[in-house]
Amino acid sequence: MRYAETGYNLEIDLSRGSIERVETDPRLTELHLGGLGTNAKILWDRVPPETEPFSPDNLLIFSTGLLCGTPAPGANRTIVTTYSPQTLLMGYSMMGGFWAPELKYAGYDKVIFRGKSPNLVYVWINNDKVEIRDASHLRGKGAVETAEVIRQELKEPKAQVAAIGLAGENRVYMASVEQGRSSASRLGIGAVMGDKGIKAIAVRGTKDINLARPAEFIKLCNEVLQYIKVRDQKPVPGVMPILAGLGSPAEMKLVDEEWHTQNFMWGNARERKRDYWNKEIEGKWKETQETVRTRLISCYNCPMKCGALISVPGISTYMMKCFSKLTYAMAAFSDLDFGFRIAQRATEYGVDGFSTPQVMAFAVELKEAGILTDQDFAGCPSDSEGRFYWLLDRIVRREGIGDVLANGTYWAAQQIGKGAEAYAHNNIKKHEQLPLKLGMLNPVYFLMYSTGEKINITQIEGQFPQAPFPTMEEREDFVKDWIQVPDEKFKKYLLDWEMRGERSNPYYPTVDMSVDIVDWQEMMHYIDDALGVCAGLSAFPLKPPYHIHNYPVFISSATGIDMDEAGLRQVYKRNRTLLRAVNVRRGLRRADEKPPEDHWKKRFPELEAKLLDAYYKFKGWDHQGIPTKETLQELDLGYIAEDLEQRGIIKNE
Ligand code: SF4
Repeated sequence: MRYAETGYNLEIDLSRGSIERVETDPRLTELHLGGLGTNAKILWDRVPPETEPFSPDNLLIFSTGLLCGTPAPGANRTIVTTYSPQTLLMGYSMMGGFWAPELKYAGYDKVIFRGKSPNLVYVWINNDKVEIRDASHLRGKGAVETAEVIRQELKEPKAQVAAIGLAGENRVYMASVEQGRSSASRLGIGAVMGDKGIKAIAVRGTKDINLARPAEFIKLCNEVLQYIKVRDQKPVPGVMPILAGLGSPAEMKLVDEEWHTQNFMWGNARERKRDYWNKEIEGKWKETQETVRTRLISCYNCPMKCGALISVPGISTYMMKCFSKLTYAMAAFSDLDFGFRIAQRATEYGVDGFSTPQVMAFAVELKEAGILTDQDFAGCPSDSEGRFYWLLDRIVRREGIGDVLANGTYWAAQQIGKGAEAYAHNNIKKHEQLPLKLGMLNPVYFLMYSTGEKINITQIEGQFPQAPFPTMEEREDFVKDWIQVPDEKFKKYLLDWEMRGERSNPYYPTVDMSVDIVDWQEMMHYIDDALGVCAGLSAFPLKPPYHIHNYPVFISSATGIDMDEAGLRQVYKRNRTLLRAVNVRRGLRRADEKPPEDHWKKRFPELEAKLLDAYYKFKGWDHQGIPTKETLQELDLGYIAEDLEQRGIIKNE
């Protein structure tokens, strides 16, 4: 019997119209757990590195995590994986909500799409009955609207529907997959879904999931729930409000936006407004938020309520994700009311709420600089908000200049030329980043920005505070109940970290400490992404309920796999290295591993080189960031070493 997982994947070839239920190899679960780990393995095995993102040979994998569908709180992530049109590397993006548990209950761990459908279709997975259905009547419909129409036509109000909007249909590189209360936004996943001709995937499942040692597992789940309650009463003092509690992060509860509005950049990630926040703005924004936010809501089996239902008069209700609350407002130099309004349209179109506002702000700057012309903007309103709506409509339809902008700032700048590249200044690995520009280089963040494969800083960071506490008293207070540390040395790192002087950025944390910290943070994210547990309860917040000490017993009691901390670390290392190998085979090298040039004003090239060297060495990779043969063999990835050797990527010396 298989525990925690179903042991079956659905394989759907859209070119042939075939559907197969395929039993999976339990050994792969032991090696990679599930979710991101097994997705990367499938991509490595089955998609040759020369494959273009929009080739029928590219796979699009919708995966549950290993613990999804079990009673583990917050185990609800769907991990969507493919080759990204934006970065040309492996793209993986996650969504919360309800879809993954429903797929497990229908009897599948993953849905793997191959080929392309000649017509727009949607897939209906109803336990054992799986159909590819015509979706021509859904063409052009919004992602949220599509889900509603499908539920009605199936007469199945409990079906969970993941859908794309117009942006995905038109292969916009920022296209997301929307799932009611969540979305897989990064790296153009929705564009690949649209390219394959899939408008939506509806799922309904009513089966059970088996647990290896249910009583023990339920006890652990109750401990997590209990800890969440206790932690709720004990916000971490001395950190910004969104980092004080658990959740992902709890933006929709908060009305205090002083930190974001004054520290993040406005427009095309250029301008800081140090004195923006005042009593008047605070009152106005509070009123706006409390008027439109009808209800706080959670993902499947989670008490945290990170999302909110938003009802702006005159437009249909939608669910806002934490990160898009301010991105449109600040990119357009507007305010919260505008942010709530345009996010509704953007959600229906199905676009990444992080990238898309930056692409539009980039276009506005190019116009102001005379690089884009009046002709490019013919018919565009002159006010900022009107301009953003106009640009959004053009981008998702790929009309006029929107066709160029739909490829994201990096590719659009190449196409536009005339110096436009200098305006695409906020990219990593060809993708838009957090609109944040700072003074002094932070060694930990330098490594995370440079080497992360997800191209999303919030899904690499966490665990270790982002800044030192000013006094020793505060530090001692912080470390005294810091049970999550994998090693006591991290407490010392924090206790010695000063705001100024010798033990401050950029030389403290030291190179080796920075590598340790990044490795811990990455480890937790990679484990979450394999288990399908929300980072909001694990890798992202300070002092979370899930950590390296309780995860092994969660895994072993759920699956029956013999797992301890050392074993779990080995799985993490294997998955981390496998992902790196997938991208290395696609051409990723050291030269690609850098933050946006202007992210920090004060840069230290020598130190940065040492950081990268030390990080690669720690991981068992060579100077270019390529895993060595020995490392691969030690991690049971000898077949990758052989492949990389045959391609001349690992030199056989
Ligand atoms: S912590 Fe927030 S985002 Fe995460 S599962 Fe819970 S409600 Fe969803």
